[in-house]
Amino acid sequence: MNENKVDVIVVGAGPAGVSAGITLARAGKKVVIIERGDFAGSKNMFGGAIYARPTAEIFPNFWETAPVERNNVEHKYVVMSGSDATTISYKHKEQDAYNSFTVIRAKWDRWCINEAKKAGAYFAPRTVVRDLIKRSGRVIGVKTDLESFYSDIVILADGVNSLLAKKAGLRSDIKDNAVALGIKEVIKLPKNILEERFNLDSDTGSVSELIGGPLSGMLGLGYLYTNKESVVIGLGVTLDELKKRKLKPYDLLNELKLHPAIEPFIKGGELLEYSAHLIPEGGYNSIPKLYTDGLMVAGDAGMLVNNVHWEGTNLALVSGKLAAETAIEALEAHDFSENMLALYQEKLDSSFIMKDLKSYKDIIGIVHSNSKSFLGYYPEQINAFFHTFTNVDSMPKKENFRRFIKNFIKNRKISDLFKDACDALKMGIGVLK
Ligand SMILES: Cc1cc2nc3c(=O)[nH]c(=O)nc-3n(C[C@H](O)[C@H](O)[C@H](O)COP(=O)(O)OP(=O)(O)OC[C@H]3O[C@@H](n4cnc5c(N)ncnc54)[C@H](O)[C@@H]3O)c2cc1C
Repeated sequence: MNENKVDVIVVGAGPAGVSAGITLARAGKKVVIIERGDFAGSKNMFGGAIYARPTAEIFPNFWETAPVERNNVEHKYVVMSGSDATTISYKHKEQDAYNSFTVIRAKWDRWCINEAKKAGAYFAPRTVVRDLIKRSGRVIGVKTDLESFYSDIVILADGVNSLLAKKAGLRSDIKDNAVALGIKEVIKLPKNILEERFNLDSDTGSVSELIGGPLSGMLGLGYLYTNKESVVIGLGVTLDELKKRKLKPYDLLNELKLHPAIEPFIKGGELLEYSAHLIPEGGYNSIPKLYTDGLMVAGDAGMLVNNVHWEGTNLALVSGKLAAETAIEALEAHDFSENMLALYQEKLDSSFIMKDLKSYKDIIGIVHSNSKSFLGYYPEQINAFFHTFTNVDSMPKKENFRRFIKNFIKNRKISDLFKDACDALKMGIGVLK
């Protein structure tokens, strides 16, 4: 037998790859996880919250030993216009403790791969997989710069721009409207100042979704997260919007940072890091075929992201686990055919992953074609309403409300308002049906 032969090769040591690797190792299978970065997490960035319950399926009680930053007890939705903002804030109930945690991927991914190594997975960092090796149409290994590795099954967990899934003929080039560019800055703040500004205790954190403002009218959102001693400010906008409007994401981020609703939270901080990464945005309609003879695709490589809820890591972790469980059954049956691996699709279909992505399948399309109104006009009107409601100007309230309604209708035709309402209803029905 070839000395480079294992049961399963996993490409990529992000959440999908580590979850696949650890599941296989725990089942006593020989698995190698190949990662191009110097260490797991060295090439990765995200917003960043991981979700506790799906994560605990792979790493039970991880919060006791893993490098987590803060337990997010507060979610804020900040609807911004040019210079004002309306904030809805939700504090989690106590029994929801440990819903999500902020983490720093360079530390978190490193901890995760160490857990996989402890379980028996072999880890090969600083190794780029260049191609797949096929025999009689079935994938039987991978080629790296230095050597080839062989296996019964390969699991691709190589992220959003999966060149290998493309080489396998499962994916085509990413479409500009099916991917967003996410950029962010990490800004250092002394712990006591951060906790005072965000009204937090020593381990609790806050997550803010930023709607409108400099992103007004575009398919894009901003975010503000708290780490232990730093805040993360960032945004994501689809590539087609950036191209169409010839916008530089960094200019948008600068504008966001200067918004009066944001600036007080970050002022005086020291810039630690700036990074950018692509995010799959196409949802259900952009998911490629996820298996072929000898091969399965998990996580971002399969476009498995629920961007309405900012969930990516949990879909990656759970899809990696389901791919591994399929591989275990295939190894036991000595059957690595497409027919056998179709079981992976069945497992995905009966999990929350495909159920959620399917029920949200029309949302992105509808929001995309209505982005000027849903993410531009209405955020402005929400602020105009609260401006009218809170403003004290010695005018009869009735007159102020009438002026607001007159402007609301004047600035958007009745037929457009009607269409917006129908589209909003269509989205709601789509989710519930
Ligand atoms: C700006 C931004 C904000 C986000 N915010 C959140 C959030 O708050 N919460 C959340 O749940 N999700 C968030 N996401 C999504 C989340 O980060 C991804 O869904 C998740 O990381 C996908 O995991 P993965 O393992 O599939 O891919 P990745 O984490 O991208 O890992 C892929 C790995 O494969 C390696 N690799 C690629 N090609 C090769 C190759 N040829 N050979 C060897 N190795 C290779 C890469 O180096 C990388 O380590 C965000 C994403 C971005 C970009």
